[in-house]
Amino acid sequence: MNPESVQILLVEDEKAHVDLIRYAFDAWGNGCLLTVAATLAEAREKLSLIEPNLLITDLALPDGQGSELLPEDTSTLPYPVIVMTSHGDEQTAVDLLKSGVLEYVVKSGDALMEMHRVAERALRQWDHIRARKHSEAELVKSEERFKTLFNTMPTGVAVFEPVNNGEVFILTDLNRAAERINDIRRQKVIGKPLTELFPSAKTSGLAEAFKRVHFSGEREHFPVSIYEEEVLTTWFENDVYRLDSGEIVCIHEDLTDQKRTEDRLRLTAKVFDNTTEGILITNSANKIIDVNQAYCQTTQYSREEVLGKDPGYLKSGRHDINFYAQIWHTLLKTGQWQGEVWNRRKDGELFPSWLTINTARTADGNILHCIGIFSDTTEKKRMEARLTRMAYRDYLTGLPNRLLFKDRLERELKASRRVGRKTALMFLDLDHFKKVNDSLGHATGDKLLQECARRLRGAVREVDTVARMGGDEFTLVLMDVKDEQAVAHVVRKVLEVFEHPFTIDGHIISITVSIGIAMAPSDGQDHDTLTKHADTAMYQAKADGRKAYRFFEAAMNAANLHRLTLESCMRTALEEGEFQLNYQPKVAVSGGQIIGAEALIRWIRPEHGIVSPLDFIPIAEESGLIIPLGEWILETACRDAKTLMDQTGNPFTMAVNLSAIQFLDKKLLPTMERILQETGLPPENLELEITESMVMKDVEKAIDTMSRVREMGIMISVDDFGTGYSSLSYLKRFPIHALKIDRSFVRDIVQDTDDKAIVSAVISLARSLELKVVAEGVEEPEQLTYLESQGCDSFQGYIFSPPVKSDIFSELLKKEQGE
Ligand code: C2E
Ligand code: CA
Ligand code: CA
Repeated sequence: MNPESVQILLVEDEKAHVDLIRYAFDAWGNGCLLTVAATLAEAREKLSLIEPNLLITDLALPDGQGSELLPEDTSTLPYPVIVMTSHGDEQTAVDLLKSGVLEYVVKSGDALMEMHRVAERALRQWDHIRARKHSEAELVKSEERFKTLFNTMPTGVAVFEPVNNGEVFILTDLNRAAERINDIRRQKVIGKPLTELFPSAKTSGLAEAFKRVHFSGEREHFPVSIYEEEVLTTWFENDVYRLDSGEIVCIHEDLTDQKRTEDRLRLTAKVFDNTTEGILITNSANKIIDVNQAYCQTTQYSREEVLGKDPGYLKSGRHDINFYAQIWHTLLKTGQWQGEVWNRRKDGELFPSWLTINTARTADGNILHCIGIFSDTTEKKRMEARLTRMAYRDYLTGLPNRLLFKDRLERELKASRRVGRKTALMFLDLDHFKKVNDSLGHATGDKLLQECARRLRGAVREVDTVARMGGDEFTLVLMDVKDEQAVAHVVRKVLEVFEHPFTIDGHIISITVSIGIAMAPSDGQDHDTLTKHADTAMYQAKADGRKAYRFFEAAMNAANLHRLTLESCMRTALEEGEFQLNYQPKVAVSGGQIIGAEALIRWIRPEHGIVSPLDFIPIAEESGLIIPLGEWILETACRDAKTLMDQTGNPFTMAVNLSAIQFLDKKLLPTMERILQETGLPPENLELEITESMVMKDVEKAIDTMSRVREMGIMISVDDFGTGYSSLSYLKRFPIHALKIDRSFVRDIVQDTDDKAIVSAVISLARSLELKVVAEGVEEPEQLTYLESQGCDSFQGYIFSPPVKSDIFSELLKKEQGE
């Protein structure tokens, strides 16, 4: 130690000794600083002010023992201490040496003069002690560090002691990781042999490895992997060493998770490369870090071209910023996004793709990668478009079909609601289209529909929709119309285009249409209501004689609902063959032979049963359906009559009920003429039953018609006679040949004297006018007896037969012949 920097506290009460010591230090080196205290108290005070490098103290001081300056635990002394004793006090000094005092000096003049040497020695010794203390502390520290390390390292370490010359290895130490990895507790395994710790066959090789290492001293690497049902359950990597001490150390790592990930990655990589879907992976900075083969094929970019780039270069420009923002938003929120995205290939071609983006996040939730998987849906799109076209277009006319019509109408209604404009919906039905189909064939019918579609398209504006609903029904959606006047204008234009006949396959075809119109918002604001109302209006137009248009009127809705349903069903019933004629025999009162038949219609509605003519004839009359229906009745009755007469050789009169509408129809006579001609029925075998009321509407005209009918040779009888406004004066002028007494009079004829009187009056009246009398509704023999007594010519009624099908009627005729 350099004396200059040494600070010494000398505690000595004897001045002479102090001087000697000072002298000694002066000789040693002039830099050393000597502070002197004469008493313990003074020494303590000095110590509180300075921190000496060395303390030299006399033992005997005026106020106590110098040793009192030493702390109880002398190991904490910050400086070396030298004590001075007088002769005879050596024992104390020795004790003090034991307790940490470095030197002692027995006071003598010489000894004190050499004090600097003692000091030097003490200081040197102190340095040694300090160094040793330091390294001891270091050792403890490093020991602790090692222990901590040993126990906190993730790698398992186990130490084994070879015994029996390497036959057995006993576990002597292991760290926490080894406990954890092997799922064992230190207390339970220390002292156990290796073979007991790892008894499994898979790990048995470990003992062999230990042995080899024990003898050769060469480190060995020994992995242990266990797969259970093709799933990796354990993967340990073992490194076995021999220490200088001969102990065997086994370091092992559990790589199960890592190996599992590797396995999965290997599999993923295979999928990645071989899938037909394009895959791209971006990092957190949205830069591409990998793409697969399929991606390159679809986009036409090579892997090298895209790595490190932002995937935005594929953008097609077909989506706006919001679209992409939405994707990110969803990705951040849910971790996944799926949808259709249009992208651009390298050559500039746009293509639709179905894209699925998944995110891979770090443990703390930040997005690490985005994995995009997409398939090029171009082909699929093309297919879809074709299918959509097929689904939305009418194959025949190319017009929108029912579906597209609905779609367009709904869209238009929504839009018009917003801006408050009006929309008109027109339902259009071709009149008598069926006839064209039946007479000229479906191919011609189809061409006619195509031509109608073309004309309709030409009659409306570009913005308006013309759709075909199926069959001969079309709809028109007129956008943004001012009022009903404006609509009527369009409607007339439509009716006009149908005024020119169509020339198809060399046939000249005239066709008319009936149109129903509903307006939004006044008649309804949604597709269903509006179409229903337009449909209703259309039927109204039909009912009012076709070739007409009607605006929907809310009032007709509820009242006519049932009627309209019946009516609309009836429209198809004829085509579907749901009508049938029954025949009720007319029998001569005297003799009882069948002299005629009355044709009575039946409507057999599928799922509803038989509908009475009383229910549907009035509707057929109102809707105009009675015209085709009546024609069918006439034709069927005449054909059946002819067949029956031919079959049985039994001539009779077939009576057909005529409706007022038919009676007033200009085409009645030509129709009858045609039918008689076609069926070959002689006119005198046909009889028309008309009612008084039909005639009384326009007597002159009725007489004219009746006369012409009679001229043709056809019979006429007045039905329901007595129920209406019987004008006897006219009766004389009517060219009829028979009266039918209504069944309401016949019913009570036996009991009711009034009815009796009416019936006998009618019969005598008829006689005077030389008319035949037919009674209907005869059920009882008494009724028949009375009628006979009054001179009635013939009768109808259940008493003889109800109305029956023609084959049964034929049986009745045959039976009669056999008699
Ligand atoms: P209508 O011309 O007075 O026909 C006679 C009705 O009396 C028929 O009723 C017939 O089935 C029924 N009847 C026959 N014998 C008896 C009987 O012994 N007792 C009772 N209580 N009734 C009997 P249906 O067939 O229901 O016809 C009702 C009405 O419908 C007919 O009255 C006629 O006005 C009309 N109708 C029936 N078929 C046709 C048709 O082909 N064309 C037209 N325009 N009207 C028809
Ligand atoms: Ca009748
Ligand atoms: Ca009648």
